[in-house]
Amino acid sequence: MTDMNDISPGVAGLQTRLVIETITQVVNGAEIVEIVGSLDETIPGFQAESWSAPGAEHALEHIRKRVVGVLGVRGEVAPFSCVVSGIAWGVLIEPIALQDGAVIGALVVARQGRAWSSRERALSKAFGGLLSHTVTLAARENALMDQRRLDELVGQVAERLMSASSATRQEVLTATMRVLAEFLGADVAFLRRNDHSRGLSVLEAEWPPREIPNPDPLGEVPFDADPVFAATKNLRKPYLAGAEDDDYLERVEKGSGVPQVGGACVPLLLADTTWGVIGFLHFGLHGWTPEEISALQAIASMLVQLQARIDAQERTEYIAMHDDLTGLPNRRSLLRELEVRLAAHRETAILFFDLDRFKVMNDFLGHASGDRVLTTIGDRIRTSIRPNDFAARLGGDEFVILVGDVSSEMEVAATAYRILGVIGEPIDFAGQQVSHTASIGIVLSKPGVQNGVELLGWADVALYAAKRQGRNQAVVFDEELRESVSERSRTELTLREAIEGDGLRLHYQPEVDLRTGELLAVEALVRWQHPTRGLLPASAFITVAEETGLVVDMGRWVFAEACRQLAAWRREYPDLPLVVRVNMSPAQFVISGLVEFVENCLRVHRIPGERLCIEMTEHAVLQEPEQTARILKGFQALGVEVAIDDFGTGYASFTELKHLPVDYLKLDTTFVQGITSDPSDKAIVEAIIQLGRALDLGVIAEGIECGATIDKLLELGCHRGQGYLMSVPMSAEELAPVLRAGAVPVSTFRSVGKVAPALSDQSL
Ligand code: C2E
Ligand code: MG
Ligand code: MG
Repeated sequence: MTDMNDISPGVAGLQTRLVIETITQVVNGAEIVEIVGSLDETIPGFQAESWSAPGAEHALEHIRKRVVGVLGVRGEVAPFSCVVSGIAWGVLIEPIALQDGAVIGALVVARQGRAWSSRERALSKAFGGLLSHTVTLAARENALMDQRRLDELVGQVAERLMSASSATRQEVLTATMRVLAEFLGADVAFLRRNDHSRGLSVLEAEWPPREIPNPDPLGEVPFDADPVFAATKNLRKPYLAGAEDDDYLERVEKGSGVPQVGGACVPLLLADTTWGVIGFLHFGLHGWTPEEISALQAIASMLVQLQARIDAQERTEYIAMHDDLTGLPNRRSLLRELEVRLAAHRETAILFFDLDRFKVMNDFLGHASGDRVLTTIGDRIRTSIRPNDFAARLGGDEFVILVGDVSSEMEVAATAYRILGVIGEPIDFAGQQVSHTASIGIVLSKPGVQNGVELLGWADVALYAAKRQGRNQAVVFDEELRESVSERSRTELTLREAIEGDGLRLHYQPEVDLRTGELLAVEALVRWQHPTRGLLPASAFITVAEETGLVVDMGRWVFAEACRQLAAWRREYPDLPLVVRVNMSPAQFVISGLVEFVENCLRVHRIPGERLCIEMTEHAVLQEPEQTARILKGFQALGVEVAIDDFGTGYASFTELKHLPVDYLKLDTTFVQGITSDPSDKAIVEAIIQLGRALDLGVIAEGIECGATIDKLLELGCHRGQGYLMSVPMSAEELAPVLRAGAVPVSTFRSVGKVAPALSDQSL
């Protein structure tokens, strides 16, 4: 609403002076000429122009009162007469109205006695019209100026908000509140967010800064605390708060010390929800123009957009830095955090751990259960680390904890075992308690070491040492392990010489019918006659061979040697339907010409394909699925059988295996050994045996070390087995008695309580 107070006195003032002067000249005998405002008694620029002839002051007072009394009524205002101090006055009155008809004042002309001529009436009407026009123009100009200022304000705020990021958000919001408060002349400006899930209105930014009491009665306020907060909860339209909101005023008084306020609240709308509000308080009462409110609405929508943009940015950043399954920081943020700690020379220990045999669980319990295991472990880690620690998931079942403020190795080891305890607590799966162990590799940061990736690598080495030592333990990366890392590169050198020279041997381990002891096959296992360390088992060097690619040449030698030996045995024991199983590493499946090589060896040694079986791990299937499938079909065409070794420890899914020409599954040692003690191992073995039956595959148990295991295996329906209990791997000569008998005597392994003589490979 515009009244004459709002109209610039400069413009209107000039016009009224002119009007009054002109009227006094053209209206004969005019004694009073005045312009009166309807809403206020003092009208800047107009009142000063009120003119009266000498002696008419008293009448002027009287007439003004009458005029003010009749103003505010729309339409024509008729001339009237009145008597002041016994003298009759004729009064001409012309309304001054805005274009929309709102009467905001009047032009008054008065003189004693005489009636008004029609010319005089027309004149005053014309002047009234002129003044109305002037006032309208002035009001419009004023409104335009206001609008321009509001537009500028909106533009200025928009610019400020556009440049905000999540890092500067708070600062920008506070600055925006300051700009708005100053512009609107508000005593307080604030931005509150609606936390709908907690039913709270939360203070996000305010101006001016306040000495904040603790607790802050304005910080987090339940919506149901009072009607004003309740109104802000789902506010859709601007809300004007007044003095009648007693509870609210009380609260404001508590928070700010100010008792009497009036103000406006504008909602920040995000789709169907009220994200929050911006509010402005005036100490004392205050009116708002619709233009101001709509400018605030524009600003409110920009604030919502800013928040949406920052949320999206934060989400992108969060996704980039976090693992989406567990919500823990990921490898990237781990490395960033590690570098920061190293740069600040903070003593940090790295605990690098993974769950023992997680993959198997994943495959057998299903991926959803596997995910549950990971999220449960992730939650446990999150809640069991100290404030200075940092936990991350690297992927798969690998986690890392950075332990801050490390004082001793002992303390770190204690933390590691505490974590092992936390992880080991059983997880409930439909009433079944499944527990997990983990292995941990530990590295303590050393002053001067800046490279986080290198430290992680060392922790990984320690982790593998922990696994080798039998899992469910923690190993600290020490000088010995550092030595083993360099030992590894020396091994590589000498292994190459061994392959090219005469350093490799083959040992053979019988596979028997667990019921009868009948010899079903032998597995060829490579050995290295090391110049200084003696005869080494495959486990001591196969990883180095695989990592360096030496395994390809080594594998060729192994296969050719196995064929040569089998050909010799076939000549010596022509009636023995002996099968030799030969291990092949994934790398061998990548090199072209493997099938041709096998075919050639068979031809040279005149061996029918079905006398040979290739043992491969699931990794080969995963690495190059198509090529592996082609190779396996090539083997199948040659009659060569295929077994999946260490089945259950790898990553291949059964559906992938189903389509491959595979003949046997070899149950991994760790499950076999656990079937008498660990229900989940037993469940896994049972499932594999069933799978074998369903897919018509033979199932072979490896690593049998005690009679109880055999009983269990037979009970579950598996009767092929190999292990130290029946026979350790042996040289071809040592194997002669078994070959001659075509069996391992049942009595040697099936008497009650029988265990393998020593858990070592005696032939080494
Ligand atoms: P694998 O094929 O699963 O072989 C079984 C491993 O378990 C052998 O270790 C064997 O000595 C050992 N073992 C046999 N019976 C028992 C038992 O009752 N208890 C326990 N705890 N272990 C038993 P080895 O010879 O050290 O071989 C380790 C792995 O190295 C093999 O596992 C196989 O994956 C790989 N490997 C062995 N020879 C070759 C080869 O010629 N070429 C390739 N590519 N890999 C080979
Ligand atoms: Mg094998
Ligand atoms: Mg195996």
